[in-house]
Amino acid sequence: MLEKIYKKFDKEVFSTFLETNPCSNCYICCTSKYSQKVSELELAYLKDFIIKNHLLEVYYKDFIHFLDLRMKKGNKEPETVCPFYDISLNKCIVYPARPFSCRIFGNFAFSFDSIPASCIYYNKVKVIKEKDLIKIPQMDSLASLVAVWRVLHLFSFKKQKLTVQSR
Ligand code: SF4
Ligand code: SF4
Repeated sequence: MLEKIYKKFDKEVFSTFLETNPCSNCYICCTSKYSQKVSELELAYLKDFIIKNHLLEVYYKDFIHFLDLRMKKGNKEPETVCPFYDISLNKCIVYPARPFSCRIFGNFAFSFDSIPASCIYYNKVKVIKEKDLIKIPQMDSLASLVAVWRVLHLFSFKKQKLTVQSR
């Protein structure tokens, strides 16, 4: 289901860019300079992708640390690069499973200041208000899926806890 949402978004937003890396050797948005939020559902999907593709699981732990760094206000380490970005290959090694927030960068922003002027999307970015976030293609489907996943996850967690307690 999440995969379908990602694919629909990519098809709708990236059109001809799908098979190539239009960013060449730029990876500014893959550094801790820019903040990013990732839902637990997407993290679980990413972890699954890493395991299935025999990528080092340690990358996943590093990514969680990287997300913490990204969310810190006044981050003093702007040069920290996402552990999934391979500088020698100029690419994201989890590209098919990269989170939604990675996909929307450059395409949608709350202000022009939030993306670098050198970004290839700078003149194409759609500036939106925070309340209009849901208007981003596939955002409504993603929000619904995340909400359902959270409830199911909580339910299975509580069930597991009860099973352990009753032993
Ligand atoms: S997951 Fe991929 S696209 Fe997202 S920040 Fe990391 S390297 Fe960049
Ligand atoms: S989206 Fe923009 S900032 Fe990010 S890597 Fe591509 S060109 Fe660079």
